[in-house]
Amino acid sequence: MSVWRAAFMDGLKPEPALTVSEWADSNRRLSSKASAEPGPWRTNRTPYLREPMDCLSSTSTVQRVVMMFAAQTGKTESGANWLGYVIDHAPGPMLLVQPTVEMAKRLSKQRLESLVTETPCLAAKIAPSRSRDSGNTMFAKEFPGGMMLLTGANSATGLRSTPCRYIFMDEVDAFPADVDGEGDPVSLAEKRATTFARRKILLTSTPTVKDFSRIEAEYERSDQRRFYVPCPSCGGMQWLKWAQLKWENNDPATAVYECEHCNERFAEIHKPAMLRGGEWRATAPSDGKTAGFQLSGLYSPLGWLSWADMVDDFLRAKADAPMLKSFVNTRLAETWEEDFASKVNADALLQRCEVYNPGRIPANALAVTIGVDVQDNRLAVSVWAWGREEEGWLIDHQEIYGDPSGAELWKQLDVLVLNDWEHDNGRMMRADVTAIDSGGHFTSEVYQYARERQAQGVVAIKGQSQRNKPPIGKGSKVDLNANGRTLKRGAVVYPVGSDTIKTTLFGRLKHNNPGPGYLHFHAQTGAEYFEQLTAEKQVLRYVKGFPVREWVKKSSARNEALDTLVYAYAGLARLYQRYDRRTIWDQLAARLEQGDKTKRKAPLRSKQAPAASFTSSW
Ligand SMILES: [Zn+2]
Repeated sequence: MSVWRAAFMDGLKPEPALTVSEWADSNRRLSSKASAEPGPWRTNRTPYLREPMDCLSSTSTVQRVVMMFAAQTGKTESGANWLGYVIDHAPGPMLLVQPTVEMAKRLSKQRLESLVTETPCLAAKIAPSRSRDSGNTMFAKEFPGGMMLLTGANSATGLRSTPCRYIFMDEVDAFPADVDGEGDPVSLAEKRATTFARRKILLTSTPTVKDFSRIEAEYERSDQRRFYVPCPSCGGMQWLKWAQLKWENNDPATAVYECEHCNERFAEIHKPAMLRGGEWRATAPSDGKTAGFQLSGLYSPLGWLSWADMVDDFLRAKADAPMLKSFVNTRLAETWEEDFASKVNADALLQRCEVYNPGRIPANALAVTIGVDVQDNRLAVSVWAWGREEEGWLIDHQEIYGDPSGAELWKQLDVLVLNDWEHDNGRMMRADVTAIDSGGHFTSEVYQYARERQAQGVVAIKGQSQRNKPPIGKGSKVDLNANGRTLKRGAVVYPVGSDTIKTTLFGRLKHNNPGPGYLHFHAQTGAEYFEQLTAEKQVLRYVKGFPVREWVKKSSARNEALDTLVYAYAGLARLYQRYDRRTIWDQLAARLEQGDKTKRKAPLRSKQAPAASFTSSW
């Protein structure tokens, strides 16, 4: 059936009255691979998901559903239930939009495949993608009476194609403000549903920065429903607020909730009963077509994310602006208010320099990374040491003058890259990662050096200025031989989210209490260094009506101190790709304790590299 005919039929054919939650309760199975609680789906486990899901049922008159939900509350699964319901019960053309095409591909391969294979009624309707001519590809799944198309918000072509009755836009806060110069990806996608009288549009996300968050803007245009639950003591209905959670002596295990009506405090064990007795209440006038839902991690069912986990997260995050932002966004499902007015001040940073030995790794540091910026007549190099929770120490900053197209300059860089730094505990440490910007005029020289020093942790990087990029992305082979083929042991270049890293670092430079995320500078650091470090500021611009924040350099200022810190931080992010993120600091501490048995031997020629020709400008 053509989609046009489907659109026409949509207005005529009645569908039996079954809701998404009813469908999920009778058909959906959670796999042991993708779920902590495998087995049949039970909406009763997460009663707050019933109403948002049922607004997506054919029986509901709601057209747009907005879910601003915390992580670990079941948001993703409720979307999956809707997909299953559409395929099995209310077929029609459907568009599924992820932030990027790459993420859409991952979703198709990982989640959709398991949703289909583990739910028998769906497996019967979608042919395996292996079989030829099955109508089932990575980005398109055919089923009787409909089709599911997958795309990324970064592809205007993908957003523009055929009309769709159902549109599911996932993690909309990670969507670009503008796609290929054609405007807002959300409006672009929504245009495809206008011909359908019974269209359904689902937008979900954890929120991000206030005034920049799409999901918050969508929620504010909705009837703004909150989930009200009864107090176990007085029965008073209320929606759960972070400020009402209380604990003692920084001990997460003591976390209890204080009722806003009777001030009685109660433990989490009451949660299942509270969730069962809960109901969504609109807190703003409704247009009859849009339903908005907001839910924090405080509602997460027992056994998922506990109140104690949340207090623990909060205590770890509270001293560090970027970590606190992430807590507020992903745990509380609230936007973060960023302070654009205040700017990091060079003089204030100079004032807070400390006495420690440059060139020596402080006691609490566990890893060393180096950032290198390539200019036309010099390399700017910063050496940073890192401790738990990303506390950082500037160890050295140098400018090495010379011609980047000649070998001599790179030999001088070897002196830092292969240096054995003395740790405060007496052991020697080498840089784990050296990240060199390949974006300038000497790309092939950077590739060559990265190729030769691959075993020493040297990587070529390429900055990306777009927002919301991860600090470091997946590396891709770039080295080509004379015939244009990729070299087997060729250089790998890693995309670096410069904008993301700068936002993180500036958040950290603003706070003045040593500890998680704090950046230390030694007393020999000069004023010029801090002028460079603060040479950029964030400004607010509007692109086609959408606020966009952007880092701009003050005119004529130099900014290598900042760039090299950004690259050294990207080097730290690269370490997260090599270690288990949850235990990295324990692993690095153990490594330091034992001495690095796997220490790389320095190649001979670098042993004689000249050490005298360094120019240190401060
Ligand atoms: Zn009460």
